[in-house]
Amino acid sequence: MSRYAYDGTGFRRSMPSDVSVLRLGHRKGRDPRITTHLALVARALGSTRFFLAGDEDEGVFANVASVNERFGGQMVCEHVGKGVGRIKRFALEDAGDGAPGVVVHLTMYGEPYRQVVPRIRRDRPLMVVVGGAKVPGDVFKHAQYNVAVGNQPHSEVAALALFLEAWSGESGTEQHFPDAQLVIHPSATGKSVTDRRRLEEE
Ligand code: SAM
Repeated sequence: MSRYAYDGTGFRRSMPSDVSVLRLGHRKGRDPRITTHLALVARALGSTRFFLAGDEDEGVFANVASVNERFGGQMVCEHVGKGVGRIKRFALEDAGDGAPGVVVHLTMYGEPYRQVVPRIRRDRPLMVVVGGAKVPGDVFKHAQYNVAVGNQPHSEVAALALFLEAWSGESGTEQHFPDAQLVIHPSATGKSVTDRRRLEEE
């Protein structure tokens, strides 16, 4: 599939890249809904790995697995302790293939995302870090890019969605998972869904 990304003047074709998302500071009692939304936005916009830092939470992973099961895709979830060590390793040593990757930290204190996206290399795996209640200062240091989606406080889910849209362009929201059980057909009038498993059983 072709990919288009914002290069400062418009959406241009670019090479696909491997994108993972790391959520810092998850609190099991308070954050499951928003953390699940982060994982689902990541999945829906083309990311294939979701790293959870903070509390372990099998419930979040089970929700993502359930969406994978019904709607397809291979979003892999992994708990990574406090997360800072994983960010540092990804940026400096190993992005999963034995070589350093690129870390983008989403923060309202950063540089404007539309200016930064065209500068980010696309030939290495990308990790997008979103914060939680309190972001450790070292995250700013280890990330190659501290990036703002506007300089006002809002939502990690909104920041992630807008960043991934700018990164991937129109292909970001045009994900098609070949192994989906439920396939949605865009409709102007109501729900149109094929249940492939049911068709196979008939
Ligand atoms: N108080 C936290 C701190 O220590 O910075 C931030 C809390 S904020 C609700 C949670 C996360 O949302 C942030 O860490 C960041 O990833 C994201 N976020 C919120 N507003 C943002 C913005 N304007 N640009 C980029 N990311 C933003």
